[in-house]
Amino acid sequence: MCDMCDENAGSDMTRRGLMIGAAAGGLAMAAASPAIAQSAPQNAITPEEALARIMDGNARYVAGERIDHDYSAERAETALAQFPVAGILSCADSRVPPEILFDQAPGDLFVARVAGNIVNATGIASLEYGVLVLGIPLIMVLGHTSCGAVSAAVDTVEDKVVLPGHLPQLTEAIRPAVLAARLQDADDLKSAATTLNVRYAMQGLRLGSAILAEAIDAGKLGVVGGVYDLESGKVIPVA
Ligand SMILES: [Zn+2]
Repeated sequence: MCDMCDENAGSDMTRRGLMIGAAAGGLAMAAASPAIAQSAPQNAITPEEALARIMDGNARYVAGERIDHDYSAERAETALAQFPVAGILSCADSRVPPEILFDQAPGDLFVARVAGNIVNATGIASLEYGVLVLGIPLIMVLGHTSCGAVSAAVDTVEDKVVLPGHLPQLTEAIRPAVLAARLQDADDLKSAATTLNVRYAMQGLRLGSAILAEAIDAGKLGVVGGVYDLESGKVIPVA
């Protein structure tokens, strides 16, 4: 687990809970603005329905049957408010654009991207906003095949490669997945580490955020994982 998750899972949870409650009140007031009130938002659905919606979109994308978008009309529809159906924590890789691979329109996905789809404080904050204010019913952690960040983390473990700048912060966050993958004695270490990295991020969202954990326990939020196959375009579920 990442350092931040351990820190947030510490003994300060009660005070954090109180602070979160106060902050959520303020955010809720903002969300209740008449300018963005709507009777039947598209994201007033279950986590299962949200998952089906994005996976159906992925199936369309794989089949080459993507919906034609009228971006002018979609801009007009979403200019005053957004009701995204899912939050996506994905890698920053240029070949993994969530809106395209899930065949969704502007306003449909609330996306936090960082190399290696790791869980960090700002990513959690973004997703907390998505859940508290925007009402997203689902978060998917989305890794992908041939991930450079995972490969770099493997190299730091296997070959003791030392990376420049801030890159070690990234690989350190992925390191637990690499170490666990080594224990599995997997044939493909990078592939196994990619899957475990997604699974750890799913756990990290819950452990690192009282807001997300509360929403999960209340059945309002589902957290799922997937690995996007760069070659086939398919998102493979991670249990
Ligand atoms: Zn990547």
